[in-house]
Amino acid sequence: MPRPDHPQSYYDDIKGKFKQARDVRLDYRPPGTEQFTSEFSGELAKYAVDPYAKAVEQREPITDKVEVLFIGGGFSALLTSARLREHGLESIRIVERGSDVGGTWYWNRYPGAACDVVSYDYLPLLDELDYVPVDHYSRGPEIFGHCQKIAKKYNLYELAVFNTTVTETIWNEEEQLWHVKTDCGDVMRAQFVICANGTLAKPKLSTIKGMTSFAGHSFHTSRWDYDYTGVDLENLKDKVVGIIGTGASAVQIVPELAKNAKQLYVFQRTPSSIDVREDWPTDPNWARKLEPGWQATRRAKVLAVVENSLEKRAAKGATSPEEKLRKQENANIDYMMRIHRRIDKIVDDQETADALKPWYMFMCKRPCFHNDYLPAFNRPNVQLVDTKGEGITEIGPKGPVFNGKEYDVDVLIYATGFEVQQTGIYNTIVGEANVNLQDKYADGIRTLLGIHTAGFPNLFIMGGYQASFQFNLTDMLQTQGDHIAACIDYVRSNGYHSLDVSDEAEQWWVDEVINHRGKTTRSEECTPGYYNMEGDSQRRQDGNYNGGFRQYFEHQGEVREKMEENFNLKAKPA
Ligand code: NDP
Repeated sequence: MPRPDHPQSYYDDIKGKFKQARDVRLDYRPPGTEQFTSEFSGELAKYAVDPYAKAVEQREPITDKVEVLFIGGGFSALLTSARLREHGLESIRIVERGSDVGGTWYWNRYPGAACDVVSYDYLPLLDELDYVPVDHYSRGPEIFGHCQKIAKKYNLYELAVFNTTVTETIWNEEEQLWHVKTDCGDVMRAQFVICANGTLAKPKLSTIKGMTSFAGHSFHTSRWDYDYTGVDLENLKDKVVGIIGTGASAVQIVPELAKNAKQLYVFQRTPSSIDVREDWPTDPNWARKLEPGWQATRRAKVLAVVENSLEKRAAKGATSPEEKLRKQENANIDYMMRIHRRIDKIVDDQETADALKPWYMFMCKRPCFHNDYLPAFNRPNVQLVDTKGEGITEIGPKGPVFNGKEYDVDVLIYATGFEVQQTGIYNTIVGEANVNLQDKYADGIRTLLGIHTAGFPNLFIMGGYQASFQFNLTDMLQTQGDHIAACIDYVRSNGYHSLDVSDEAEQWWVDEVINHRGKTTRSEECTPGYYNMEGDSQRRQDGNYNGGFRQYFEHQGEVREKMEENFNLKAKPA
């Protein structure tokens, strides 16, 4: 597409508006991440209850020993287990809070749940399972079913423990094993522990004055109450529904609620950017012609490509760093203005259309793709309540209060998101010399590749900080899973019992992370959201590795080429 020909003043004006919108938002909010809570106790305990749990059978506490124990049973655990089985590991245990595998796709069963990453890339192990997804973008139930199929194929149900939350993971020096304690009284022992508890796993609620006084029904999107709504939302036809939040979850849910509720109020603080979603059923002729190993070939291509984003393409040929940045920003603004024009084209009411326009750079917030979200606001039963950056700060017995009006709703749905990338530190993890991982991280996160951390032998972290960021998370997780399985195989095949990253290797990676952070001030200029820790200032090492996905993958290989240098490897004590 030809680039629009605007004078620089056009872009500067829009950048000014972005800044204004961010400042409005910052002035309203309570500080940073403190505005949210994920501690669901007391009156909030109901928001954590698992509505999908099967009848839980009482069982005796487990005290046995396994080779590998995963904390969490989502894609991290599943795709790593597949590789571990290929390396001959036999005893693999998943310990999972839910009552099945699936992680995100176990919990997020809200109506309309689907993945925004192309299914042939997102679903892992398609070659191994000889499976081709049914659509270009998979719906939630297909993905959840795929998780279950992986668990069956790799015989992961046999030792799996569900409805169980790990509370403490403690390195036992004498046995040189991890002791994993749970809320069911277990003290499981494991040679290797893999923290696979997800990047966005714990639901969070905005802490809103009066929220516990609400007299109607309420739940979080990741605990969808189908008993209340009906399987096809048929119970909502005489109900007034409120939804707080307009992130990726709400964008998928709103069209479904709009079709089924008597009345829907969408309480918005900051709009998402919504682009077209080009979906189609998988062409059976295409699927039939796929050669064995087709997905591995696709993934290899992703790793071979030097990142070539919209902005990087724009910056090509720029002469100075300043010009490069200016071109990148202008390309970004062009994209966002196209998103604005799309809203004007679709949404009939101009005031609503204006309120739905995101005033920030592309990728300040997680971009969304949906064809039915914007048209939902043309329905007579749907009303956008735009809080213009303030958010809902009060809830009364009838419902959310804004501008002095209490919105009377039967049911209130919190689409307020999840705690971010705390994987590895949800439970108490105590390593060598009784060091608690939280205490070790008190002065900043310290890892090698975001996976290993010194003083915590045979412990691996997946999906945490200091790893690369990739829009297709399973690409990233697969490289981590392959790396972890190869490390474990090295330990076993060379007669060792444990590996622990050397202090030098860990320091090298912390420096790498710091060196690649903060090349621009983009993150600070963004409107608050979970991508920039809600505007909280962050230590430079407490984030993702920004050196690029391909480089991250290559560094994994380099680390493994020098196992003896990068790790302290020990045989089991006699
Ligand atoms: P998000 O954190 O993205 O969104 C939370 C929403 O709640 C934001 O719109 C936020 O507003 C709003 N909010 C918070 N407090 C208030 C308040 N007091 N009043 C009004 N609004 C409030 O959570 P999601 O669950 O939507 O998505 C989380 C992530 O999960 C996604 O970013 C994505 O990575 C993943 N996901 C992926 C999907 C896919 O592949 N299609 C689908 C769903 C989720 P504000 O922006 O102002 O903070």
